[in-house]
Amino acid sequence: MTVKNGKIVSMDAYKQTGRVIDAEGRLIVPGFHDGHTHPHVPFTLVSPEAPMLFKAKSVEDATNSLREYAEKHPEDKFPRMFGWMSAIFKEGEKPTRQVLDSIIPDRPVYLVHHSGHEFWANTKALQMAEIFEKDPENFYGYIERDPETGFATGYMTETEYAGTDGVLLNTVKAVKPLTFREQTLVLRFILEEYSKVGVTSIWTKDGDIEISKIYEQLLKDDSLPVRATLDMLYTSYSSIDDIQMYADRATELKNAPLPKGFLKSPGAKLILDMPADGYVWLFESDKDPDTKTGKPFFSLEGFREQAIEADKKGLTINVLGLGDRAIHEALNVLEEIVKINPERERRHTIEHAEYIQDNDLGRFKDIGVIAVMNPIGVYPDKEYQKQLEKNIGKNRLDVLGMRWKDLIESGALVVNGSDFPLAPMDPMVGMHLLVNGTDLKGEPEGGLWPHKHISIEQALRTYTVNSAYASFDEDHLGMLKPEYAADFVILSENILDQQFDKTRLPKVKAMLTVFNGHIVHEDFSAEEKVIDFGG
Ligand SMILES: [Zn+2]
Repeated sequence: MTVKNGKIVSMDAYKQTGRVIDAEGRLIVPGFHDGHTHPHVPFTLVSPEAPMLFKAKSVEDATNSLREYAEKHPEDKFPRMFGWMSAIFKEGEKPTRQVLDSIIPDRPVYLVHHSGHEFWANTKALQMAEIFEKDPENFYGYIERDPETGFATGYMTETEYAGTDGVLLNTVKAVKPLTFREQTLVLRFILEEYSKVGVTSIWTKDGDIEISKIYEQLLKDDSLPVRATLDMLYTSYSSIDDIQMYADRATELKNAPLPKGFLKSPGAKLILDMPADGYVWLFESDKDPDTKTGKPFFSLEGFREQAIEADKKGLTINVLGLGDRAIHEALNVLEEIVKINPERERRHTIEHAEYIQDNDLGRFKDIGVIAVMNPIGVYPDKEYQKQLEKNIGKNRLDVLGMRWKDLIESGALVVNGSDFPLAPMDPMVGMHLLVNGTDLKGEPEGGLWPHKHISIEQALRTYTVNSAYASFDEDHLGMLKPEYAADFVILSENILDQQFDKTRLPKVKAMLTVFNGHIVHEDFSAEEKVIDFGG
């Protein structure tokens, strides 16, 4: 392959001039595209240098981590840590502010559940957010309260987007833990991690205009190490007029005097339901009669109005939809849009798309809706799965859950994303979950739901050619051929070889990552990859 000026110019290298890299017979694949990720969470959910809490086995493990981090970082005005599992609490126990107060009473503290939708805060944080004594107005989330005093206990769900400005976002804004310049530095450090695992394009599935300015600054500074497609998140504090603002920002970025092909914000993320207790919107089911059917996070009518407006303004709609009912309703609205709005090329998506009724499966292809899924949905942790089974129902989970295989076979386009920081950003870990369905130790034997596993080639497509299509980049990304961008990865093992042991997937390394014709990561050492993730 010959590369020049950021592009592939031919698929041979017979005239060897310039720098020659010998892949020594190794597999070269297109640069990976992470179709659903949240790299800028350090500005909200987690302090930039705080370690993850995935591995904590008890409340004590988690609080020890917090103590250690807070002692090392007295400069952090608002310690936030991410990733605790529900199983660190004994049956019937819940997070309390008092436990955190005993470690840090004088700075606000937030520990965020691994789902990103449950929160554990200390008293100082609750007071600063002005929710200690009562709920804010127009509130959608849940703040647990002591039945006697009415004070917040320190446990909350879905408060990040709720209320006038989001409880957590409000506190972050009040404390201002990072300046704009610091945010660009932090984001750059995080984005550079993508290069190490072969990711050259990302699609963030939340964000706002302020965050898009950080990406723009990085591009101006010539230090954006991935191609970034950004979403604008519609929350309870957004107004329908904001959709015009999102569309204007999309146009502004498109016409800005910036290098082309690196940054755009064509999407609006609209929320139908949420991956949290009581907000996964499910159909009632005879087979799973005890499960909670949940409800939409905002109203269905509100969602419909936002979607029609966003489509009219030319935006790509990314619907957060998990439950089978939410997905059914999302498909109805997306189908209606095609009929009532002017004709145009549409590539709307449903994000997560975790539970799909048989009747709705074929509609993805028919309407042209793309399923953007997250392999973390098969997170092979026993406690997590037990909880999921209780909330969702065993039958629904086994039959209607995580239907990437059925969707692909129905002819629908499936894209996968890490949902970082919920899971590592490494596509090899995602592919491992899709293909093997086990944790990193190989448990459970044979993998969760073997009837849902897909082939390595199918998995690879969801991280390359399919994602390029979803973001309207199929004419220059996602494949290796002349005129396409020189974004590619040399892998340490040939994952497409018949003889390849597929249980080795998470161990496969990106030995060389080339982005726009530049080497952005190189590791030809024999050292094993370290993966910080649950089991
Ligand atoms: Zn997400």
